Amino acid sequence: MDNKVYVTRSSMPSMEEYVHEIEPIWDSHWLTNMGPKHDELKNKLNDYLKVDNVELLVNGHMALEMSIQAFDFPKGAEVITTPFTFASTTHAIVRNGLVPVFCDINPGDYTIDTNKIEGLITNRTCAILPVHVYGNICDIESIHNIADKYKLKVIYDAAHAFGETYKGLGVANLGDASIFSFHATKVFNTIEGGAVCYRDAEFGRKLYNLKNFGIRDEETVEAVGANAKMNEFAAAMGVCNLRHIDENICSRKIAYELYSGLLDDCLGITINRINEMTTSNYSYYPILIDSKITGYSRDDLYTYLKAQGIFTRKYFYPLTCDFDCYKNIGSTNNLPVAREISSRVLTLPLYSGLASDDIERICSLIKTYKGN
Ligand SMILES: *Cc1c(COP(=O)(O)O)cnc(C)c1O
Repeated sequence: MDNKVYVTRSSMPSMEEYVHEIEPIWDSHWLTNMGPKHDELKNKLNDYLKVDNVELLVNGHMALEMSIQAFDFPKGAEVITTPFTFASTTHAIVRNGLVPVFCDINPGDYTIDTNKIEGLITNRTCAILPVHVYGNICDIESIHNIADKYKLKVIYDAAHAFGETYKGLGVANLGDASIFSFHATKVFNTIEGGAVCYRDAEFGRKLYNLKNFGIRDEETVEAVGANAKMNEFAAAMGVCNLRHIDENICSRKIAYELYSGLLDDCLGITINRINEMTTSNYSYYPILIDSKITGYSRDDLYTYLKAQGIFTRKYFYPLTCDFDCYKNIGSTNNLPVAREISSRVLTLPLYSGLASDDIERICSLIKTYKGN
């Protein structure tokens, strides 16, 4: 079959635009280590994300892992998070020697259920690490109230929420730190890359030390650090992609609205509604399948669409707490909503430039499918 549709497709500038952007690198021979492209992208992201402090890193995972590390939590401390996320979120906690405590999610927007957070707090809890799943912004007011009351740090995994605003405020301003991924498959990409937006200057200094060997100047190494710098070629890709970000999000929005119009009256299929307070980046198109009404399961639909050349994703299934490596970690019992959503969700293809013909074909396949 030649008209295959994948769940995503990376946004790219024209080749000419990218070549123009990297030409100065040939003149300067400056390939990495916080060069001019790195600084240019950093400044442009300050403006675009409407934040004071942004640090660029090699990828979103290291942004998350090093942010957690920069807070210097005691080993074995607990971090309240959700299992309905990408592997990276839970790995970043565990690789820091901390214990993930899994909280259930809301049935409506799949973000952390703030009514269930307080019941999980112990005297070892050090932080809350919520995820703006699919670009749906968490219940930040409740999270911040709880964090203030118990003196906990809040680190947002904002990998899905690039450029979004909530009640007019850029989401990168939320919490003690917000982490973005600029992976090839994300709304904004630098091929591989990531960023941390943060509040406290001292935290910023620690984060910088972690990403650059603790080196302050030629003769001063201030702290134990690793290497997670963003290189000039990645930053140049970011400078190009940022030029087109608004038109890319607009193209996603058109795709999102076409899907929603076509699937709205489809019995047994629930679509993801965007909170009115949020300006969305339309990063994903998840649907929930109610097999009692449709007569077929999420897995049936996934397999059927795949046979037609439509590659959807069971995103997020399995829950991270069910990975083999986490089988023996903490309590994973009290997660009824996360389990339910994870077994019913299917993420449909969505990217800038996805043809309306393809969306119409996908929706008509879904609407005519009756199960096996
Ligand atoms: C993509 C992603 C990450 C990791 O980002 P990378 O840039 O791929 O390292 C972390 N959390 C979530 C929710 C993600 O989707």
